[in-house]
Amino acid sequence: SGSALSTGDGEAMSAPVFGPEIVSFEPATGKEIWRAPVSDIDEAIKRARRAWPAWAAQPLSTRMELVRRFANEVRKDAEKLATMISRETGKPQWEAAAEVESVIAKVEVSIRAFAERTAQRRFDNAMQGTSAVRHKPHGVLAVLGPFNYPAHLPNAHIVPALIAGNAVIFKPSEKAPATGEMLQRCFNRAGITSAIMQFVCGGPEEGKQLVAHDGIDGVLFTGSANTGININRKLATRPDKIVALEMGGNNPVVLWDTPKLTDAAALIVRSAFSTAGQRCTAARRLIVKSSMYDSIVPELKSLADRLIFAEPFAEPAPFMGPVIDNAAADGLTESFLYLLSRGGKAIKHLVRPDENLPFLSPAIIDTTAMPDRPDVELFGPILQVIKVDDFDQAIAEANNTRFGLAASLIGGTPQEYNRFWANVRAGVINWNKGTIGPSHAAPVGGIGLSGNHRPTGYYAADYCAYPVSSGELDQPRALIGIGLRSGGE
Ligand code: NAD
Repeated sequence: SGSALSTGDGEAMSAPVFGPEIVSFEPATGKEIWRAPVSDIDEAIKRARRAWPAWAAQPLSTRMELVRRFANEVRKDAEKLATMISRETGKPQWEAAAEVESVIAKVEVSIRAFAERTAQRRFDNAMQGTSAVRHKPHGVLAVLGPFNYPAHLPNAHIVPALIAGNAVIFKPSEKAPATGEMLQRCFNRAGITSAIMQFVCGGPEEGKQLVAHDGIDGVLFTGSANTGININRKLATRPDKIVALEMGGNNPVVLWDTPKLTDAAALIVRSAFSTAGQRCTAARRLIVKSSMYDSIVPELKSLADRLIFAEPFAEPAPFMGPVIDNAAADGLTESFLYLLSRGGKAIKHLVRPDENLPFLSPAIIDTTAMPDRPDVELFGPILQVIKVDDFDQAIAEANNTRFGLAASLIGGTPQEYNRFWANVRAGVINWNKGTIGPSHAAPVGGIGLSGNHRPTGYYAADYCAYPVSSGELDQPRALIGIGLRSGGE
C-alpha cells in the first residue's frame, strides 16, 4: 500500500481494477493512501451476534465508562486522526481538528441525552401499583457513514448505540475508510472489543448486504437521499428493523431587510462554501429581497473571491480544500454548465484550475430566470441566488424543494421570523445565523427527503433503544370483583 499514482495525466484519480479491495485516495494529490480487501459481512454479523448479549447485560455505568475511555483515546490520537481526516477528505487541517473535537464532545452529550431521553422511570398509581419504563437495545445495528464527516457523523450514531447496549457494525464510506479504521482502533483501545464495535471495509455492495441481512436489527444511516430511499425501500417489509436516515438538503437562506451587509455576506459565504460546500446543511439557495440584491451581491462576490481554496496543509491555511474526487468535480462542473444553459447568470464562475484534480473555486449563479430549477442537492461550492419581491414569495421559494434539512432567515423583523419559523419546512430553522453547524446539544434532522423523523444529535438516544413498560408488584395480588357467579367461599 501507499504507492503513489501519477497525478500528471487524466488517469490520476481513477483506480485500476484491484479486485475486491477498497482503495482510498487523497483528493488533494490523487495519491493512494490506504487499501484493504472488503470484509466478509456474514462473518462480521455472526461475530457481533455472539458478542452482543454479554454487552447488553453489562451495567449501564460500565458502558458509559468505556465510551468515556474512548473519548480519552481520541484525545491522545487527536492530531493523527485530524491529519488522516484532512488527507482523506481534503478538508483544511483546522476544520479536521474541529471535527475531532466534535467526536470527543459527542460522548458527554450522548451520556446526558441517554439519561434524559431514555433513562428508567417509575410511577406509582393507587389502582395499578408501580409501573416502570425502561429502555432496551435493539441488538446489532449497522452504521453506514458518509465521506464528508467520516469520523464525527458515524460516531454520532455509534456512541449512543453503544451506550444503549447495541453492538455496532460500522461501514464507513468507501471514500474515507482509513479514518473509519482509526476511529475503530480508538474504541478497541478503550476496551470496547472489535466484536462489539466492528469496522467493516466495503462500498455500496457491502452496505446493501448489511441492510438486507437478517442478523441486523437496524440501520443508522448518514448519506445521500438516493441511498436513503434505497435503504427505506429495501426495509419496507421489515417493520421490525429500526431505520434512522440522515440525508441531504437543498437548503435556503432568505436575506431580508438588514443594515448589516458585511455580517450577512459572511454568514452566507460560510454557509455555502465551508467544507467546499460538502455539508448536508450547506446553503444552496440564497433567496434575496429584490431591494437588497444590488447591495449584497457585490459583497458576496468580493468575499468569495478572497476565499483560499488549496490543499489542506497549505500555508496560509485555506478556507476550503478540494471536493472529494474527480468524479464529484466533473458532476458539479456539468451541473453548473446546465444551470448556465437554462438561463442561469454567473455572478462568479466555477473554476477548476487543474483538470486532473478536484479543486473547485466557490461559484455563485443567479437562477431567478430559470423556469424550473432542478431540486437536487449540488454537493459542492455552488450557491444559487434567487430574487423575490415579497415575503410570501420568499417563503414559497424556500419551500420550493422536496428536502427539508436547514433554513435560515437573515435580517427581517421578529414578526417576519415568526412567520418564517411557522411556515418553512425544515428540521433546523435559524435566524441571523447561517445554516451550518447545528448545536451538538440539540436534535439534528430533517423532513421531506432529508430524513425519516429520527433526528440524530441529542435525540439519537431515542432510536438506539426501545421503551418497555412494566407493571410490577412484589407479590401476585388480584381479585375478580365483577362478573362472577355466586358460589365458592
Ligand atoms: P452516499 O449515500 O453515497 O453513501 C453513504 C454510505 O452509504 C456509504 O457508506 C456508502 O457505501 C453506503 N451506500 C451506498 N449505496 C448504498 C446502498 N444501496 N445500500 C446501502 N448502503 C449504501 O453518501 P456520501 O456521498 O458518502 O455522503 C454525502 C451525502 O450525505 C450528502 O447527500 C449529504 O447531504 C449527506 N449527509 C447528510 C447528513 C445529515 O446529518 N443529514 C450529514 C452529512 C452528510
